[in-house]
Amino acid sequence: MHYENPEQVAGESYWNNSKDRGYRGLHMEIAKAIQWNEILPGRLIRALLRPKRLVNLIKASAALLVSSLIKKPVVWGIPPVLTIEPTNQCNLRCPLCTTGAGEMERPVGRLSPETFEHLMELLGDYIFFLLIYHQGEPYMNKHFFDFVRLAKRKGIYVTTSTNGHFFTPANVEKTIESGLDSMIISIDGVTQSSYAHYRVGGDLQRVIEGTRLLMETRRRLGSRTPNVAIQFLVMKHNEHEIPAMKRLAEELGVDRFLVKNIEVHSMEEARFWLPDEEAFRRYEIRNGELVVKGVSEKQNCPRLWLSTLMNWDGTIVPCCFDKNGKYVVGNIHSVADFRAIWKGPQLQAFRQQHLRDRQSIDICRNCNQGFGSFLPDRLWQRWMARSASQPAASHNLETVTQLTPEKE
Ligand code: SF4
Ligand code: SF4
Repeated sequence: MHYENPEQVAGESYWNNSKDRGYRGLHMEIAKAIQWNEILPGRLIRALLRPKRLVNLIKASAALLVSSLIKKPVVWGIPPVLTIEPTNQCNLRCPLCTTGAGEMERPVGRLSPETFEHLMELLGDYIFFLLIYHQGEPYMNKHFFDFVRLAKRKGIYVTTSTNGHFFTPANVEKTIESGLDSMIISIDGVTQSSYAHYRVGGDLQRVIEGTRLLMETRRRLGSRTPNVAIQFLVMKHNEHEIPAMKRLAEELGVDRFLVKNIEVHSMEEARFWLPDEEAFRRYEIRNGELVVKGVSEKQNCPRLWLSTLMNWDGTIVPCCFDKNGKYVVGNIHSVADFRAIWKGPQLQAFRQQHLRDRQSIDICRNCNQGFGSFLPDRLWQRWMARSASQPAASHNLETVTQLTPEKE
């Protein structure tokens, strides 16, 4: 894949070059997920290579294709990709996160083993990709490792995302021995003050030492997994730290370094948090309003045909952008067959509205629609090269090159 044209590499604006027909986005979504996320493609493909899963993926993809063409929601198969929420509690208070900001309107709780087992009975033979994280810190659910183990016994590819505050020696060994395929660790700053500007209540030193321990233990146990990616959310206060963070990631020996753009919900948040570098912004500002770059109003969303999300209490929502459960379409506790939800009237009505006018759905308006929002490596690496060749003016790297964060 080549991204020589700046228009192509500007965040999610790769979509600018797609035609206004949703199904065209499908292969790019999958390519983006595989190329830029923490995922191990070989293991993902192995998880898929089972007759039921392959047939199901083909059916679900065909339904997406047909629905995009006829603009009516046809549904075949069941979701091949699933996200679950181990908990909507967290030890940190990140200001742009619904949980962290104290704006969670759903009941607060933790996924039970019984609910997860029921889910696996319903979907375990059909899904090949399971993401165990949503609005909270996964390690705060004491059954987290049991979820991973059960899914791995079923041969499903499993990934998670954590703030990295729970890497005790026991937890890192369990993480590796559970068979978890890959994980994201969020670190968005190389000094305590910069890190905690967004990760409010966080302790950078603890996360760094925990990550170091995880990588050392993985080596000691001779394991290739989990594949570990450090994720850096690029914001106004930390955009100059990308080079230093990359060096820190290399020093820690993680497998990937991912730079991700942020989601905001108002102009006020945009002014405060969005980075100055235009290429790192998910949005452009048109007539004083935030508009997600590179998404056509007519573009169809593959997620509504290929994936779904279960909150900790068993409620099903269309996707991870529905943080407060505004569009609940069912609950797995009230069905014996997931098709009752997947083909049910509420999700079908949501799909229909999305096909007719995606702008009429608030969460879809603020969505870049992908399986991830990571910036292509070439984008930020080119930016780094450009910054390095300029005299340090706005980007004073000297302030962030220390690998051991300052004590405050
Ligand atoms: S660490 Fe994650 S879940 Fe916790 S407050 Fe921050 S963004 Fe939200
Ligand atoms: S919010 Fe985004 S991912 Fe969710 S259904 Fe709408 S377009 Fe798809």
